[in-house]
Amino acid sequence: MKERARFAPSPTGPLHIGGVRTALFNYLIAKKNGGEFILRIEDTDTDRTVEGAEEYIIESLKWLGLAPDKKPYKQSERKEIYLKHVDLLVENGQAYHCFDTMEELKRAKEKHGNDFKYRHDKNFGLKNTFTISKEEADSLITKGEFVIRMVVPSNETIKVKDEIRGNLSFNSNELEDKIILKSDKMPTYHLANVVDDNDMKITSVVRGEEWLSSLPFHILLYKYFSWAPPKFFHLPLILKTEGQGKLSKRDAKQQGFPVFPIAWKDSFGFKEQGFLPEGLINYLALLGWSNESDKEKYTLKELVAGFDSKRIQKSGARFDIKKATWINHLHIQDCSPKKIIEQCEGQTEAAFSRFGKKLEEIIDLIKERLNLLSDIQKEIGVFMHEPSDYDQKVLQKLNQPETLVILNFCKLHVGSSEEGSVIKEGLFKSSAENKISFGQTMKTLRLALAGSLKGPDLFKMIEIIGAEETIKRINKLTKTLKP
Ligand code: GLU
Repeated sequence: MKERARFAPSPTGPLHIGGVRTALFNYLIAKKNGGEFILRIEDTDTDRTVEGAEEYIIESLKWLGLAPDKKPYKQSERKEIYLKHVDLLVENGQAYHCFDTMEELKRAKEKHGNDFKYRHDKNFGLKNTFTISKEEADSLITKGEFVIRMVVPSNETIKVKDEIRGNLSFNSNELEDKIILKSDKMPTYHLANVVDDNDMKITSVVRGEEWLSSLPFHILLYKYFSWAPPKFFHLPLILKTEGQGKLSKRDAKQQGFPVFPIAWKDSFGFKEQGFLPEGLINYLALLGWSNESDKEKYTLKELVAGFDSKRIQKSGARFDIKKATWINHLHIQDCSPKKIIEQCEGQTEAAFSRFGKKLEEIIDLIKERLNLLSDIQKEIGVFMHEPSDYDQKVLQKLNQPETLVILNFCKLHVGSSEEGSVIKEGLFKSSAENKISFGQTMKTLRLALAGSLKGPDLFKMIEIIGAEETIKRINKLTKTLKP
């Protein structure tokens, strides 16, 4: 059977990074086996649907390179299918109508406290087809004033295998008869999810571990419909970098990183933070999964080829922004300057426009220093303007009697040629003639041009900013050093 996995978000807000990881694992499990990756928008909870969330999810998956193979399914467009299946369950006595008002339910809960679980076989004074007359029930059904709950049998052990956690069993006495059709006649998650997974021939259900508690209800529904359940993978939680608990938006914000893939309203996403989709995807794949080898850098293609779902871990995975940034750095190194410029679209153009054709050359020079694409702003500074300040420690150390000599001969050589290799040779000679180490000369020149000892290749930098600007910067340091 063809492998088919689905990502099934509810459009109740933007995609959280955990959702992105779920989408990715679905994608990998589907593609690893040459199958299909499906997107299903689970929008039956109309009260919680947020405008723009569906488009945001689709846009995010596109940016990440995880576009679904088919046009996304939308549960709100499949109402009739669910109703048909609910009818079937009612006919078979596996689901029933309930007529309790909110007020009545509240009172029952107050009265019975922790013992209260809505059950067809417990008499809590509730109003449903088991407890009221057929006439009364029929009349309420005609008026449309009901919800439908599924029957959960008593004293049963519901067994299911999770591919990550192994064999699980649930005691049915601890469960309640779940609502499967709401008063607005929309199905709940449980019913729609199971009907769709069967209808769409889903072979692997991959989702976060917070859905484990829904599993026994799903297994019962599969049984009632006489369908073979798919394989289940409940992924481990994504934990805070330090301490206990799930990674929240607030924790992330405190450490200066986002939780959304792309911007949502006024919140930054990883894209705006300077992540490449390849970098983010690679890092997320390592959250709860690892290969036998220590290999950490993967392209999406390599992930598909190397992914082994048996190696998904059970325990929670800590989000480590430093590691994510490092992995992103590795992927930036694989990009051509042209690609880097394209990825910065909409963010850095103002800074870029003045460099014209030289921009690609500049990006090539600073690339190895980029962890995030947004680091370009900082790294490109040395090409844009003279140092506004000097690294004071370096300045003090370099302030020797020979420094002015060095600056002088640097000026001379830059003045006579703009070609890096010629200047280098000249500086080499002059250093030797003045009994100054070449290293000392280079450090001094670098301080003049960049304000510190960091920065891109000096001679290439001179070629880009030109002799006039270089001399201006040398003069500035000379003035600073002269008493
Ligand atoms: N709609 C659920 C969600 O929002 C889907 C859970 C599942 O994949 O079954 O995550």
